Amino acid sequence: MLTLFCTITVNLNSMELLRECRECSQKISGRRDQKFCSDYCRNTFNNRLNEDSTNYMRRINNILRKNRRILSQLNPSGKRTADAITLAEEGFNFHYFTNIYTTQKGNTYYFCYDQGYTRLENEQYMLVQKEDYVK
Ligand SMILES: [Zn+2]
Repeated sequence: MLTLFCTITVNLNSMELLRECRECSQKISGRRDQKFCSDYCRNTFNNRLNEDSTNYMRRINNILRKNRRILSQLNPSGKRTADAITLAEEGFNFHYFTNIYTTQKGNTYYFCYDQGYTRLENEQYMLVQKEDYVK
């Protein structure tokens, strides 16, 4: 989650717009749309934002990779059932997948890259593999 703080102070007496640098809070008296006191502050601010999103994406990519690895290891032959407990014990995260495929019969397959699964009855899952799946 990113939280952006807007630090604009309005002096009502003079109707003068007093702005502060978004990085170091120093007063700015330059252009009306200026948000930073210096290139240094703008770079520092933007680098931190990018770092946050990069860390977030890295975490999700790791989850997806781990999910794919679990499916692949449980399903070396290309088609096999696995139960929910086994998947959970391996650390599978059902909230993350790369794409969904719904068959004409209405079965929904969830994929982590080329490794997929569909839910059967009794907490069982059918694991499948899909090559050249990308549409
Ligand atoms: Zn600054």
